[in-house]
Amino acid sequence: MRFCEADLHTHSAMSDGTESPADVARAAAAAGVGAFALTDHDTMRGWDEACAAAAALGIGFIPGIEVSTRFEGRSIHMLAFWVNPAPSTGLFRRLTDVRESRRSRAERMVTKISDDYPITWETVLEIANSRGVSAESVGRPHIADALVAAGSVCDRTEAFASILASGSPYYARYDAIDACEAIELIHAAGGVAVGAHLLSRGRGAEGTGADGIRTLAATGLDGIEIDHREHDSDQRTRLRTMARHLGLLCTGGSDYHGSGKPNRIGENLTSPDHLEALHSRASQTA
Ligand code: AMP
Ligand code: FE
Ligand code: FE
Ligand code: ZN
Repeated sequence: MRFCEADLHTHSAMSDGTESPADVARAAAAAGVGAFALTDHDTMRGWDEACAAAAALGIGFIPGIEVSTRFEGRSIHMLAFWVNPAPSTGLFRRLTDVRESRRSRAERMVTKISDDYPITWETVLEIANSRGVSAESVGRPHIADALVAAGSVCDRTEAFASILASGSPYYARYDAIDACEAIELIHAAGGVAVGAHLLSRGRGAEGTGADGIRTLAATGLDGIEIDHREHDSDQRTRLRTMARHLGLLCTGGSDYHGSGKPNRIGENLTSPDHLEALHSRASQTA
């Protein structure tokens, strides 16, 4: 593998992005990104398509996932790279549970919302299916799209700020994997674990604090995502200092979601040396 600057955080319509995995690869190439990771929420379904498209375009591809985890009562998104995709791994089995929980949670939320707004589980599924999203990957972004189509809100952002907010009466949680267990499952599957946007304020309270990051590092966390649009420059500086003290690698990524979010592919990148160090750790974890 050739190491270059890479966007290590993107989503396709296999989860809550709006473009096919091949179109994400095309967007990366068009933006001049030399390598990218597809990191769909809790699924590896897009890897084959993205990998083939990246090869045809002459850019690098890194297989990734963004695993939904829970830590000290809060949600943490854990990026994992180079995990073995075989159904026999413990990680694969736990992801299957998470996706099943996602599906029933989305249906419960839509049932509550449909008491007050003109959407149904069928209209949400229709939108998801039209993009190739399976029912088990339906999340709040797809419910948001149904609310936009029904004229109840203007866009995803308005839906997330109101009907779909985590404090809203329509909100329901889904089962995520304990963060420390996720790190162990990722390692057992031969991959590396990187905490995503840990200090983002938009995602509940103040994000994961210094003590939390120390605990995760002691469990074996390999890296933290520092360059992400939801981290300001002070937060990036703090995270870089922590990473140095704790021996964590540093990543950057766009969190591209196609037209589902304003994030531009390639807007944040990971340096070639940190990418190479992550890759060499991955070959030592399993
Ligand atoms: P869920 O996992 O179903 O609870 O939905 C969370 C997902 O919604 C995150 O992964 C984000 O990609 C997306 N999201 C969160 N806030 C917003 C927002 N304001 N606008 C668009 N998408 C959002
Ligand atoms: Fe997302
Ligand atoms: Fe995330
Ligand atoms: Zn993401």
